[in-house]
Amino acid sequence: MTALPLVSFVGAGPGDPELITLKALRRLREAAVIVHDRLAPAELLEHAPASAELIDAGKAPGRHCLGQAEINRLLVDRARRRGRVVRLKGGDPGVFGRLAEEVAAVRAAGVRFEIVPGVTAAMAVAARAGISLTDRDRASTVTLVTGSAHGDGELPALDWEALARGRGTLAFYMAVSALPAVADTLTALGRDAREAALVVERCGGPDERIVAGRLGDIAERARRAGVRPPALLLVGPTVAAASAPITVRHLAAAAAP
Ligand code: SAH
Repeated sequence: MTALPLVSFVGAGPGDPELITLKALRRLREAAVIVHDRLAPAELLEHAPASAELIDAGKAPGRHCLGQAEINRLLVDRARRRGRVVRLKGGDPGVFGRLAEEVAAVRAAGVRFEIVPGVTAAMAVAARAGISLTDRDRASTVTLVTGSAHGDGELPALDWEALARGRGTLAFYMAVSALPAVADTLTALGRDAREAALVVERCGGPDERIVAGRLGDIAERARRAGVRPPALLLVGPTVAAASAPITVRHLAAAAAP
């Protein structure tokens, strides 16, 4: 018997496969169909039942990326035909994940849905850098910002003056191509070019790289290091305290006789 149609929008966490919730793992184990993204860690798919249909929305049957409308249709179709569908997204599904569009499509079709949150990239990056996103005295806000409207290096239409004026932490997603424009705009509008800045590429994965600098030189440093997406830019008063991340490997080496 096919289970009742249910689409679970599930956060896969930011790259480290251990950073997934128990609830998310349970949904993967019960899934009839999993529609996943490029950013969702591949190891997580090993938790799917052998009978589950796995659909890579980033590289679909004809090797092209599925368009948003196709994904929306697929979710509704598979939920009706197979019951339990997991829509697996990198990080948290509700942070720059086009979740609203997919929820609207599922809801319009009368299919039940739920959202299982995940660790978003900004939190994972802060943890790896050993810093707090907020600070009682220095950073009372955290702003999650898209650094690129369409992935083309063009700055999105935002209230850049407010971002430059604020004193809290800024986390720029999808910022690699727009890094010079983001940094120039913020400093031109009054943000201190000496403020500490950090770019983390592939946070939590085996090939993670961290580039540290200041708002005034971080774009150039990232360019020289050849940083590629996915990477996140963190700027703010707490970023100066960033330290080299300690890994379990380091700890094991330190403990060795
Ligand atoms: N839903 C995701 C974000 C999707 S948008 C989340 O909550 O994290 C894609 C952007 O997220 C990337 O361009 C990058 O800026 C950021 N990102 C996602 N995974 C990342 C990782 N492992 N390391 C660094 N940045 C990451």
